[in-house]
Amino acid sequence: MSRVYNFSAGPSTLPESVLLRAQAELLDWRGTGMSVMEMSHRSKEYVSIAEKTEADLRELLAVPANYKVLFVQSGAFGQFAGVPMNLLRGKTSAVYANTGIWSGKAIAEAKLYAEVKIATSSKDNGFTTIAPRAEWVVDAEAAYLHYTSNETINGLEFQDIPDDGGLPLVCDMSSDILSRPIDVSRFGLIYAGAQKNMGPSGIAVVIVREDLIGQTVKGTPSVFDYKQQADNGSMLNTPATYNWYLLGLTLEWVKEQGGLAAMEVHNKAKAEKLYAAIDASPFYSNPVDPAYRSRMNVPFRLAKPELEKTFSTEAKAAGLVTLDGHRSVGGMRASIYNAMPQAGVDALIAFMAEFERKYA
Ligand code: PMP
Repeated sequence: MSRVYNFSAGPSTLPESVLLRAQAELLDWRGTGMSVMEMSHRSKEYVSIAEKTEADLRELLAVPANYKVLFVQSGAFGQFAGVPMNLLRGKTSAVYANTGIWSGKAIAEAKLYAEVKIATSSKDNGFTTIAPRAEWVVDAEAAYLHYTSNETINGLEFQDIPDDGGLPLVCDMSSDILSRPIDVSRFGLIYAGAQKNMGPSGIAVVIVREDLIGQTVKGTPSVFDYKQQADNGSMLNTPATYNWYLLGLTLEWVKEQGGLAAMEVHNKAKAEKLYAAIDASPFYSNPVDPAYRSRMNVPFRLAKPELEKTFSTEAKAAGLVTLDGHRSVGGMRASIYNAMPQAGVDALIAFMAEFERKYA
């Protein structure tokens, strides 16, 4: 068996020990004689898996008791709609920071339900920096303030939580959740698809302050109603049972590594050395303001863009895969989530140096 270093933005590399554990438990989960895939979601065995997963997520993120934790199937994209459906609470407008392609998609979806007010936009600087919070315009009458903590495509990440301006702060944390400690109590709602730092795709997490739920807009489907999902333990209908289990195994791995403080040290080290290699070279470049560079997704360009294809072909031959930038922006991109080992980044840096020596 040979495993590659997979720099995919999501679905993305998973800890090998998680995959091996899933493999070992595939046919017979702890003496039940069946796979987790085959279990009723109402069985006591499955409920124990679901509850342990929620408890571990609460522990890792130190989620306060007055927050509900939901496991839903919609993907983060579904929550682009779920957020306004649940959090408008009789109001007509919401405020969004537009810092990249994913916040743009969240904004487009929110417009189906609300008047969207843009607090700040990085469009004019090509999504390479974010205006200081003091320059944002946040209407205190709006229902909530939404931002995207890490722009997976643009490689732009908030290093601090922005001031909420007196509104419930809502964050799409899809691509940097669990990568560092965060203060959940600063948020009204956090949502994230699982397929970067939490497991496979097909499941998303919503963490929401309980006083904000229960006032959905008319026509909200029940599966999108956070209150109904919370009241039913995220089992209003059949959940993505196997994905939930894999998410649980991934959380156990994060705990074994030392939790989010350890993840932060690990991620910071990887990102710093990769950006240092890019900055030290005249052949590679990253356009993002160093104050907002993502620790999770590192886009970079070659001085000779015509060599991009050769770069990815030769990288693949060296066991370094999925380094092409998002189809909407081109260039290259290395996604280096929690499960990417230091050795993977070291191998990429060595490959880049050799490629530059050969072709620059
Ligand atoms: N938000 C961000 C920041 C993302 O990176 C993605 C997916 N790459 C999404 C939302 C959409 O998530 P999903 O595909 O799980 O619906």
